[in-house]
Amino acid sequence: MRAEIIAVGSELLLGQITNTNATFISARLAEIGIDVYYHTVVGDNPDRLKKAIGIAQDRADLIVFSGGLGPTKDDLTKETIAEMLGTHLEMNNDALISIKDYFLRTGRMMTENNKKQALVLADSVVLKNHMGMAPGMALDKSGVCYILLPGPPHEMQPMFEGEAIPYLLGTLGKQEVIVSRVLKFFGIGEAELEDRIQEILQKQSNPTIAPLASPDAVILRITAKAHSSDEAENLIAQVEREIRDLVGEFIFGIDNDTLPSKAAGLLKNGQLTIAAAESLTAGLFMSELASESGISSSLKGGVVVYNDDMKVEQLGISRSLLLEYGVVSSQCAEALAMSAKLKFSSDIGVGLTGAAGPDPHDGKPVGKVWIGIALQDGSVKTFKLDLSGNRNTNRRRASQYALYYLIKELKNSRVEN
Ligand code: ATP
Ligand code: MG
Repeated sequence: MRAEIIAVGSELLLGQITNTNATFISARLAEIGIDVYYHTVVGDNPDRLKKAIGIAQDRADLIVFSGGLGPTKDDLTKETIAEMLGTHLEMNNDALISIKDYFLRTGRMMTENNKKQALVLADSVVLKNHMGMAPGMALDKSGVCYILLPGPPHEMQPMFEGEAIPYLLGTLGKQEVIVSRVLKFFGIGEAELEDRIQEILQKQSNPTIAPLASPDAVILRITAKAHSSDEAENLIAQVEREIRDLVGEFIFGIDNDTLPSKAAGLLKNGQLTIAAAESLTAGLFMSELASESGISSSLKGGVVVYNDDMKVEQLGISRSLLLEYGVVSSQCAEALAMSAKLKFSSDIGVGLTGAAGPDPHDGKPVGKVWIGIALQDGSVKTFKLDLSGNRNTNRRRASQYALYYLIKELKNSRVEN
């Protein structure tokens, strides 16, 4: 089966957004053995979309569309496809009910053009949208399979995984299930990770292992095909064990875990409270944690102590310590962590200090960072970073490392207890 992806949207052509939908869809199609031969991007223009469809019909057996299923005037994908295929749109009752439900739930007014979203191609299979209103569609016509997906990635991705892939596997006559597990790494670069697990990567066939880099983590996606989900889970578990044996120390979470969500989860499970004293990051660390709902039972508070006087006045850190070791030091990070813990009567205290740049700070080179973590057993650990970014990437990176080390410490203490 040869596939083409047509992403519809003028924003893509104007360079306002990146075509991440095509990347995602390509990767998933590859996993089920469908080769993607072309990526096309076309604006919200029916004539040019028709031309693109005409070209794709000649060179692909599967055409996947993304975007243009919304209620506004510029959303014309399904209307244009209907015209090209000589078919029409019809109201889908289930979709209409779920749109009405959505407006009832959110207390918003439903307008006439919202109804348009419940119109689907005649004879198509409706792909349910659990994250939004516009349903997707799948239709086989004259030897070509057409799949229509909404543009917003958070709607498109679950629809593709949960609805489109099973549809495609069905039309391919495959009695297979596909199960994926994502491993999330921090503190190791993509290249080093690939190098360390080279042997596993080389022998992969089923499960497949796909490395992906994102701004916040390095990701490995393990995907297995089998006749049952138990069988697929087993295949994944074997490979996961092999990977953990080699690089497990850098794995902070799986699937939808993020550094803040993982840290927040561990704090909550351990019924632990936390406070922070932030110099370098001026609140970024706490802000990251606070992105998690329900964090108020764990995060007690913290202070931003940007200049030396405030470290002394607000936290009672001794001036002589600052003079002797400097602000960017293990000793200062330790004092920040312990004072935060004391001041807020929390189980855990975190301290961050460093030279963000562009100029050296207190005689320390740009990128030098110390993180202190005061633990519930009274011990304090410090961690040194030598970062190489600019001022703000260093500050962000330092907060992420603080979350990462916190996760490691929380996991360790859980094992010990
Ligand atoms: P909506 O109901 O939100 O209008 P839609 O199906 O009509 O959805 P579009 O209007 O084309 O989709 O796009 C909506 C948003 O989805 C875009 O503003 C963009 O944020 C995102 N999006 C669209 N296409 C892509 C793409 N190819 N890759 C990544 N994001 C995309
Ligand atoms: Mg739209």
